Amino acid sequence: MKKIGVDIGGTTIKGVRADGDQIEREFSLPTRGQEGREAIFSQLFALIDVLMTESVRFIGISSAGNIDPARGVCVYATDNLRGWTGADLAGSVGTRYRTPCRAENDAVCALLGELKFYPELTDVTMLTFGTGVGGASMAGGKIVRGKAFDGARWGHLCLVPGGRRCSCGKRGCAESYLSATALLRSGRRKFHALQSCRELFERHAAGEEWTKEIFAAFARRLNLLLDDIRTALSPQKILLGGGVAQSENMFFSMIEKKEDVAFARLGPRAGIFGALGLDLGTEFGKSGVTFK
Ligand SMILES: [Zn+2]
Repeated sequence: MKKIGVDIGGTTIKGVRADGDQIEREFSLPTRGQEGREAIFSQLFALIDVLMTESVRFIGISSAGNIDPARGVCVYATDNLRGWTGADLAGSVGTRYRTPCRAENDAVCALLGELKFYPELTDVTMLTFGTGVGGASMAGGKIVRGKAFDGARWGHLCLVPGGRRCSCGKRGCAESYLSATALLRSGRRKFHALQSCRELFERHAAGEEWTKEIFAAFARRLNLLLDDIRTALSPQKILLGGGVAQSENMFFSMIEKKEDVAFARLGPRAGIFGALGLDLGTEFGKSGVTFK
């Protein structure tokens, strides 16, 4: 069966068309997340237009923000996706393409995607380090949702009381220190011409002195977040994904307790693969989603 899987991040919208396990076509576009809901929808539609064929039977959407999976509506999004709060993803896409559509939070999708490699795990947490920091947890085989689908949002756990202002309105969130955006900002304070997060990692790998303090602080906060997750849920594994975690060796070297930590095998595509499976064996509208 042909399906389309889409992942809407703060910077890029990525999508694939798959036939079974076979990827037929892959495409991506800038999200234009700062320009508001209409701009994001126009990018989303432009992407699906490229991937769509008559034989596609399902469209799964992974999106940053707090998504109600039963309705496929974004209940809340930070300004990484401006105006996305209230957006009816499943409704808009399903109606436009006359195809069944479901939407789910991007970190949940990344977790569901990765679970294909870890079918034995029932207690697992996924963290994605990109424009923001996404988090999702499964406990006892069910996605932790809380009363408003926003349980286990680890990116907005406070690591620094009274610290940097976060896009969610609070201060000191993990996202304000551990996202690509935050790393780039810290880097530019020391080196104004810094172009990208990747360049910062490269300069650190090359031993440039000014980067050391930035990565020491990053490591301290990353380990604090991992410890808080262990204390709260005692997961069998904590999986790390997203663009920042692609520098695996350097990332891994910063982690104090490595036994329960692993890197996402699908890399930045984890969310897409989770989205592709949203029509399969998932129980919506109950206390959580069971992935079988
Ligand atoms: Zn926050």
